[in-house]
Amino acid sequence: MSKKTHINVKCPGCKKEYEMTMWQSVNVDLDPSEKEKIKNGTFNIVECPFCGHKAKTEYTCLYHDMKGKKQVYVLPDDFDSQLKEVNTFVTGLKTDEFGVSQLANEGYSFRAVHDFNELREKVIIWDEGLDDRAVELYKAVMYEHLTEEGNDIRKIFFFADKSGYFFVLFMSDGKVGRVAIDKAMYDRFEKEYGKSIAGNAGNGRFGVIDLAWALKTLPH
Ligand SMILES: [Zn+2]
Repeated sequence: MSKKTHINVKCPGCKKEYEMTMWQSVNVDLDPSEKEKIKNGTFNIVECPFCGHKAKTEYTCLYHDMKGKKQVYVLPDDFDSQLKEVNTFVTGLKTDEFGVSQLANEGYSFRAVHDFNELREKVIIWDEGLDDRAVELYKAVMYEHLTEEGNDIRKIFFFADKSGYFFVLFMSDGKVGRVAIDKAMYDRFEKEYGKSIAGNAGNGRFGVIDLAWALKTLPH
């Protein structure tokens, strides 16, 4: 099930108060329209009913896709200690209490991310039928190559549209670029590393699969 609460926020535009919805957990099998919002980046945008001012929000939220067998914890505040807390909680439970280890045996993936942008990226990757670990490894190889060429990259996101798959690059100087993803190359990553990578967070804990993880995992 999904769980949500409502809190009052003050509009930074007109200074009036209004109520916003916070999803403590969002089950996208039950609320599929929320999945679309996550994918198009509007899930965590709130709009003031008085003046139309839009603001981006970040808060702790558990994403659950039953059909796709994925759970993702969005942990925007004090990531490391929150993640530790969550994992202490789920590993301390008996199987029948929460079912994380049981779900892991059924092929569930558990991930932790820092914000809704990272959640968005995961959902897009999985909806394309790709493995996020292989995507991050591909990303890491590209990151190392571009960094060696002197580029100062702040953040990279996977994206898919009609033209295919690509990485969107956010550079430190504010510029944005994109690099096409070669599907044959992706397949090689998935074949060579994807399935066998230790650190697959399917062992009953929420794990971090991101660029930093991939840079550590790549054989050098
Ligand atoms: Zn307003």
